[in-house]
Amino acid sequence: MDRASFVPTGFDGTRWESIEPLIADLKARPVAMTRELASWLVDRSDLDAACSEARASLYIASSCNTDDKPIAEAYTAYLENIAPRLEVASFELDRRQVELGERFPLDRSRYLVLERSKRASVELFREENVPIQTELAKLSQEFGKITGAQTVQFDGGEKTLPQMSRYLEETDRARREGAWRGIAQRRLADRESLDALMDQMVRRRDAMAKNAGCAGYVEYAFRDKQRFDYTPKHCRDFWLAAEKHVVPLVRRLDARRQKALGVAELRPWDLNVDAKGRPGLKPFDGGRDLMRKTQAVMDALDPRLGALTRRLGDAGNAENGGGGAMVTDCLDLDSRRGKRPGGYQYVRDFSRKPFIFMNAAGMQRDVMTMVHEAGHAFHSMLCEGDELVEYRHSPIEFAEVASMSMEHLTMPHWGAAGGFYPSAGDLRRARHDHLQDSVVILAWIATIDAFQHCMYEHPTHTRAQRDAHWLELDAKFGHALSWAGLEDSRASTWQKQGHLFSHALYYIEYGIAQLGALGLWLKSRQQGERAAVDAYVRALSLGGSKPLPELFEAAGLRFDFGEKTVAGIVEAVEKELETLAD
Ligand SMILES: [Zn+2]
Repeated sequence: MDRASFVPTGFDGTRWESIEPLIADLKARPVAMTRELASWLVDRSDLDAACSEARASLYIASSCNTDDKPIAEAYTAYLENIAPRLEVASFELDRRQVELGERFPLDRSRYLVLERSKRASVELFREENVPIQTELAKLSQEFGKITGAQTVQFDGGEKTLPQMSRYLEETDRARREGAWRGIAQRRLADRESLDALMDQMVRRRDAMAKNAGCAGYVEYAFRDKQRFDYTPKHCRDFWLAAEKHVVPLVRRLDARRQKALGVAELRPWDLNVDAKGRPGLKPFDGGRDLMRKTQAVMDALDPRLGALTRRLGDAGNAENGGGGAMVTDCLDLDSRRGKRPGGYQYVRDFSRKPFIFMNAAGMQRDVMTMVHEAGHAFHSMLCEGDELVEYRHSPIEFAEVASMSMEHLTMPHWGAAGGFYPSAGDLRRARHDHLQDSVVILAWIATIDAFQHCMYEHPTHTRAQRDAHWLELDAKFGHALSWAGLEDSRASTWQKQGHLFSHALYYIEYGIAQLGALGLWLKSRQQGERAAVDAYVRALSLGGSKPLPELFEAAGLRFDFGEKTVAGIVEAVEKELETLAD
């Protein structure tokens, strides 16, 4: 950094005494001209980044060491004492920023995105919604408590539902069925509590929307999520497109699966097993091996991406084929006791260093997580030069293009020298399954999105009406399955999608991004990899400094998730699936 930071050395973002004077300065400092506003914005960005990094470091430490008591306590203390104060202060600064922006107009081409975002959040804010938000956060915690306690006695022990998922991949059909029924029965035991929880959440979200002067929660959520560039109508077009183009492909794939499995009808426990009865793929052994092979794959795809990967942590000295864990300043890859489940990329905003967290266990889906999170890290690194922290993050609809594109663009190189699949057969199988999953998911996204819209458009719907609507959607978008004797499970399947409870109306983003990412994959097939990676790097370098349609445009994509886009993608994917099927 050339300029001295507004945040002094020795700043501690976990202590209010350290943060408070800087906030006071930003609140009171006289600003009398546009130039002074511009430097106020950069100072605020420095402070925001430093505070965000303090939180990130605590979060990272606690997820890597869940059984470390002092770390857990430090994070809880932060959430209780610092985060709420910061939120209040941040809103006050937003308000000042909007006022100053009105008095001292800034260059629109640079500040448009920042200004409209702050203005939107100031306009939507209502004092009386703050306690409702707290109630919703508690209800969401309740959801975590109910579902976190769900376990099943299976295979000689107590298993969590995530642990049960591997039994659904077993080739013995009776065993899969037993596992599926175990999960389903356990879920049904909580059906009523989750119904009651959802009733309460819908009521509160609807009240919040009315308080803010919106017709309903759909309108509120669009404003709250700052969806400036699309409307509920665009979502409905996506559902139609999915129904018309994705569902027929899903049903064709289901028919093929049924034939390969040699069963009279597909049942819900037949979807996760390899249709040809092969054992799971074993692409790597340990985190160092995962990193070394990821490096080989990225080098083969493009030297620019290879160089960015090297910045995350060089695993070049790992012994050939050897295992070994991979932990660096930017990575913690291996599954071990005392680590939170899941995977994420979290950029530390002040030092501008990405961090990839995951629980690798040697499976193909870990390879997907790794290249996905690497894509997020590339995004952070490619826009790290922007002095405004807001512009070093992009809207989710595009951020997930950065990550999902890496899943697709790396595909041809998973078999590169030093890569994951030296065997051509394994490579073909991994590519086929990945591509298939990428397009099948679009039908599920349409189901979840349509279900939520309807739920909030009819906040007085009874539980029976809600379930009836779900069944209607499942018949329209779901797999070709026989549910005979499993009607209750079918009608309440929506309860397994945590987003519906904890991140209402958030899900369409994945569909928009997946279509963008598959669009880049298509570009790489039609115009060559170089052209696709050029577009990828160009768009990611913009960070979040441009509106969504311009970010897509920079990647050579149209910001469109309606019929034309969906039809083109599905056609290309189906063609590719045929060449990969054996
Ligand atoms: Zn992601």
